[in-house]
Amino acid sequence: MSDAAAPARVRPDGVHPFPHRHLTGIYGLHPHEIAFLLDEAEQWVALNRGAAKKHDDRLAGLTLINAFFENSTRTLLSFEIAGKRLGADVVNMMVAASSVKKGETLIDTAMTLNAMRADMIVIRHDASGAVQLIADKVDCPVLNAGDGRHEHPTQALLDALTIRRRKGRIAGLTVAICGDVLHSRVARSNILALTALGAEVRVVGPPTLLPAAIEQMGVARFTDFDAGLDGADVVMMLRLQRERMEGGFVPSSREYHTLYGLTPERLKRAAPDALVMHPGPMTRGVEIASSVADDLDRSAVTEQVEMGVAVRMACLDVLTRARRGVGGW
Ligand code: ASP
Repeated sequence: MSDAAAPARVRPDGVHPFPHRHLTGIYGLHPHEIAFLLDEAEQWVALNRGAAKKHDDRLAGLTLINAFFENSTRTLLSFEIAGKRLGADVVNMMVAASSVKKGETLIDTAMTLNAMRADMIVIRHDASGAVQLIADKVDCPVLNAGDGRHEHPTQALLDALTIRRRKGRIAGLTVAICGDVLHSRVARSNILALTALGAEVRVVGPPTLLPAAIEQMGVARFTDFDAGLDGADVVMMLRLQRERMEGGFVPSSREYHTLYGLTPERLKRAAPDALVMHPGPMTRGVEIASSVADDLDRSAVTEQVEMGVAVRMACLDVLTRARRGVGGW
């Protein structure tokens, strides 16, 4: 596949498919822009399943820096694989080895990354807003790999792609996002993406873990887990984000599991063909029972990971098109 096959700069109807320099969040994206990224990812799903994984070197000569100031397994690995599959030189910068530990400010770090003349920077940081701060200071596209409890846009895109492939659509589906919504950037990005694409979104959890006024995001709020699951087409479970909690939000893991853990019995409340999702890492026996997580007919957990590589390939490709002179913002 060559760059010549890349979509034109502007669609025939005059609408730019993705007129953004960075991907710092789902907030502010139009539904057609979200759908465009999902459509772009489809080609990579098919090719990633083939025997030869490196199909294309459209990012050859470009440097991708993955700057992770917070732990990650799936996201870091999939951005690294995505960059390499498209031919980029990929460098990972981990927090333990960085100068941030030595007191360097975020702006200094941004200036340093910029001076390295990276062509794309992927950032994960525990402070909400940190990624935007860096994006404002550097010359290349920045992709948010999760900032505090704010946003995790590529997670929402991979979740939307998984749903669209398994259910054939997103519009009109009822999606229940369950658990620690308060501390979850995954929940926030998913609410923005799924409501934009026409799903009916419910948030379900204990009152202490649901943000005040969450209904203003266009979702329905449930504190009764069974009621929240009733007839849901998709059940998305979230981990208790203990690293972001100050004080006790839940009495104990055991009690939490009793009230809000997804078990086979509970799942019967949802639609008979309901899809179970989890962004990982899962805490088995707390928010999800192993028998549900491992039920291949219902659980899309490994497919979510697979879609993550395809979505990140699409995002890296689309955001660097202007740099490569093949269309873009
Ligand atoms: N991996 C996801 C995130 O980075 C979810 C989680 O950590 O629970 O936000």
